[in-house]
Amino acid sequence: MKKGFIAAVITCLGLYANCFGQDIVQTKQYPKSFFRYPLDLPPSTAGSFGELRPNHFHSGLDFKTNGRTGYPVHAAYDGYISRLRVQFGGFGNAIYITHPNGYTTVYGHIERFSAELEQIVRNEQYQQQSFEVDFNLLPFQARVCKDDVIAWSGNAGASAGPHLHFEIRDTETEQTINPQLFGLTIPDRVPPTLGTICIYHLAGGPFSEKTPRQFMAVTGSAGHYRLTKPQVIYASGQTGFGIVATDVNSTSSNHNGIYSIELKLDGTTVYAFAAERFAFDQTHAINAYIDYPVFLSSHRFIQKCFLLPGSKISLYPLSVSRGVINFNDDAVHELEYVVKDIAGNTSSLKLKVKSSPAKTLLAPASTNTTVFHYDRQNEFSNDQVKVVVPAGNLYDDLSFTYATLPEKPGAFSAVHRIHNRFTPINDSYELWIKPDNRIGNYTDKAVIVNTEGVCQGGTYDEGYIKASARTFGDYYIKLDTVPPVIHPLNIKNGSNMARLQRITLKIGDNLSGVKSYAGKIDGKWVLMDWDYKTKLLSYKFDKNTTPGKHIFDLTVTDNKNNISQFTAYFFK
Ligand SMILES: [Zn+2]
Repeated sequence: MKKGFIAAVITCLGLYANCFGQDIVQTKQYPKSFFRYPLDLPPSTAGSFGELRPNHFHSGLDFKTNGRTGYPVHAAYDGYISRLRVQFGGFGNAIYITHPNGYTTVYGHIERFSAELEQIVRNEQYQQQSFEVDFNLLPFQARVCKDDVIAWSGNAGASAGPHLHFEIRDTETEQTINPQLFGLTIPDRVPPTLGTICIYHLAGGPFSEKTPRQFMAVTGSAGHYRLTKPQVIYASGQTGFGIVATDVNSTSSNHNGIYSIELKLDGTTVYAFAAERFAFDQTHAINAYIDYPVFLSSHRFIQKCFLLPGSKISLYPLSVSRGVINFNDDAVHELEYVVKDIAGNTSSLKLKVKSSPAKTLLAPASTNTTVFHYDRQNEFSNDQVKVVVPAGNLYDDLSFTYATLPEKPGAFSAVHRIHNRFTPINDSYELWIKPDNRIGNYTDKAVIVNTEGVCQGGTYDEGYIKASARTFGDYYIKLDTVPPVIHPLNIKNGSNMARLQRITLKIGDNLSGVKSYAGKIDGKWVLMDWDYKTKLLSYKFDKNTTPGKHIFDLTVTDNKNNISQFTAYFFK
């Protein structure tokens, strides 16, 4: 009887679809016959779609490549190369193919483009005189057929090891979609692993680092889990729940993300999360999904099973009252977690909750705070500082706090405590700090830094240094008057480089960061690769450097326009 009722609720929402013969939560169907795996290797993943990463949900599948680079990467389907990108960090080198079926595939961290694409990229780099390029191609410029080799797999950019990052995006909205929903399945017979449960006693207030939490250990295996210590949980008034859950598949021992989490109250689903699709401008809403204060303090990912009101990411196909449960009777309720991987393997956990009516809440004592509302622009200012948080940047209401701390040595302002780091920002906010008089003529060298040493940049505007900051915390003004460093590794005046393939140097900057660099041989701009992991800058000799004497020079500029130069003549 009860089961029939649940089925009715779910069917009318149209949430369940059959994938691999098992039901999984899904809002839409995707074509399964178009795309091939981009590698010839047996499919195995080091990272799943929607997996939890610091500050973002993982946007694709990470295919394993046996810990090596250099495997051919194939076009997953017919189409045309619509975008090519070379980036210092991020995907390093990336290819985008737009297909006639409404989807775009993305291939990241590749080591080398195909010869044809390599030429297109190189031309663009020489034309823009920039190593980093990101440009679109027209449909007739580089057509590809399914199976064509477009690149060789690599470890470029900000990757933790050799693999191929692969995405399928909706071409029109650019939302990224779980590639496994397109039939690119990974063998998996292992159900998710469940860890700690957390109970949040919200009591009608916004979620914050101060929300009372109760952690409970979980034990079990093979899909069946229970609390380690059998116990009844007591709850009264508005209550939220969270869980630690990961998944391994049959091809690797990597702990990847789960696909869906459902929370049921007395047999009825009150909350569901599913890693189906999302928009990139919402990916930081992972910080609204996880218990962000706990993540900052202990690096644990607790997945909250209630939504914060300002979170707009499309990963929640169902929620009743945002998943916040209001316990207000004297009954014992049954709570059930149903956690699935994308193959439909299921783990579940049941809890008993003894409910009691919420006590009348006393109005909170007034403190020195300003209330910020998640659904509008918020501002705070005094005679030294201005904070402007544009609408859409807070996930919940906030009792904003501010304090001034003593000035640090070498600083050009006091330290301003802008609330605290435990409240996440979706994108950024404006932070204006007034420099003290000693700054004199150096306003164009001023930057805002936080007490962890992270530079936020800064420009002078109406008597303030203004920066765009991504986190709350403690901020002050510093000057960057120090030019970047250049360490030549294999070149000095008179070097004989006849037998060497490359000129290699190491560059860096102490505060505002390297903005640009330009290497020249005999006065002509040359392409220099800047490696994200080694921070090495290198020029690979080509046929243009003929035998004989040449002059190499390099100019490196930081974000405050401090400039360093290096010049040496050499023989080839
Ligand atoms: Zn990836």
